[in-house]
Amino acid sequence: MAKQDDIFKNVISHAKEYGYIFPSSEIYDGLSAVYDYAQNGVELKRNIREYWWKFMVQMHENIVGIDASIFMHPTTWKASGHVDAFNDPLIDNKDSKKRYRADVLIEDYCEKLHQKAQKEIEKAKKRFGESFDEEQFINTNPRVVEYYSRKKEIMERMAKGLDSGNLADVKALIEELEIADPETGSKNWTEVRQFNLMFGTKLGASADSAMDLYLRPETAQGIFVNFLNVQKTGRMKIPFGIAQTGKAFRNEIVARQFIFRMREFEQMEMQFFVKPGEEMKYYRYWKDNRLKWHLSLGLGEENYRYHDHEKLAHYANAATDIEFNFPFGFKELEGIHSRTDFDLKAHEKFSGKKLQFFDSETNSSYVPYVVETSVGLDRLFLAVFSKSLQEEILEDGSTRTVLKLPAVLAPTKATILPLVKKDGLPELAQEIIEELKWDFNVAYDEKDAVGRRYRRADALGTPFCITVDHQSLEDKTVTIRHRDSMKQDRVAIADLSKIIDQEVAMKNWLKKMI
Ligand code: ATP
Repeated sequence: MAKQDDIFKNVISHAKEYGYIFPSSEIYDGLSAVYDYAQNGVELKRNIREYWWKFMVQMHENIVGIDASIFMHPTTWKASGHVDAFNDPLIDNKDSKKRYRADVLIEDYCEKLHQKAQKEIEKAKKRFGESFDEEQFINTNPRVVEYYSRKKEIMERMAKGLDSGNLADVKALIEELEIADPETGSKNWTEVRQFNLMFGTKLGASADSAMDLYLRPETAQGIFVNFLNVQKTGRMKIPFGIAQTGKAFRNEIVARQFIFRMREFEQMEMQFFVKPGEEMKYYRYWKDNRLKWHLSLGLGEENYRYHDHEKLAHYANAATDIEFNFPFGFKELEGIHSRTDFDLKAHEKFSGKKLQFFDSETNSSYVPYVVETSVGLDRLFLAVFSKSLQEEILEDGSTRTVLKLPAVLAPTKATILPLVKKDGLPELAQEIIEELKWDFNVAYDEKDAVGRRYRRADALGTPFCITVDHQSLEDKTVTIRHRDSMKQDRVAIADLSKIIDQEVAMKNWLKKMI
């Protein structure tokens, strides 16, 4: 655990030191679970958003984007169920005075059972070698069977308690499992209570005419209320999707995990409208397709897993999370939900307007079913950033810190370095920048010895360093150093753009999915 904590602390301090993420309003000691993206962070975030948008909108003929407002008519949130049911179960520890989410405490307990089962499987894999039949082992090994059935039983009981509002049983479960405060070990718990996560605000100048509003807790509803506008003006045929990226706000109970759980964050969501009865086909398609998209970033297949939901939200008939191996273990990165016709039907009911698709082939109208893909941009940032940050021991025994960001996402694609600050080398370096900056974010660095400048670029995650030396003046060539392999090649200045483009072009990364 200590090691995991150290890795996570390192991620947070690296993000600050290298201009990726700062605590919000830091001069006033910050604001809990609110963060600012700094000069490099904003570029990485923009690139992640664009990588998503290009794939979802540009590469799918039947998906279009919108940008709805954060403020929405308050009845939206009555219809969506957020006013009545957007709650998290909270529990306080009476000794430490720390507040937790009751469901997360139980899920963490179950994760430990899962880890124990995994350990048994790994041990057996090593023991049996080639002849190992994993599926048979999982189904027959008494310990593994026991761990998994225990986990299932606990998750089902929690789901039942939460669904039926039997919070006393959720507390009883925590006590029976002897779950202690993770920070202090105390088992002295309060009752479990529900807590609504929406932030309220007011619209209007005078107190009597002001209208109560909410900051949107998800971007999805902006898509649902615009469903018919988009369908009609875009002449969209079912199945089709509407994508959106934007801010969402939740008054999270526990927010101690850096940008994993923020009170103000950004979502990238897509609602796919389908014919009733066809939703499972598209649910499976998007479940598979979204994981492939994540894998295209090359962070390692072993760092992703699905978690199919036992406890379904009030609107869903199937749901899964794509979980990622964050520095603190596997946690939700993206949700894929089959939302039925719940949202559109609810908006029909509350607005009194029809939200139906007219099928000209059958000459009839229906309310479409919806499959949603919803990923947190900040969580994806954390996934990419934390997995990319590595300490390497080099051949000469020294270490280097390198941020191996997927080149397509790196904030700066190349740093141009004159070997010395004289003899016309800075001028040639500037000429190269003038040419490259039309296509790429590039930087100039002339301070310190070249080795130190390389290290700085490595820690910033810049995929290429281009060094201008005296030979460059004569034959118009430079050395290009690759961040990950540290290999250096002598290349023509005229070829630089092509070489960089080959490694950073979104097209080349997205093509890996096919
Ligand atoms: P969790 O169980 O972790 O609270 P959730 O199931 O409530 O998440 P959804 O409502 O499905 O999350 O939201 C979709 C996505 O939005 C999540 O997969 C996550 O990536 C992101 N997200 C949700 N809440 C936050 C938050 N407080 N901070 C950052 N990202 C968030």
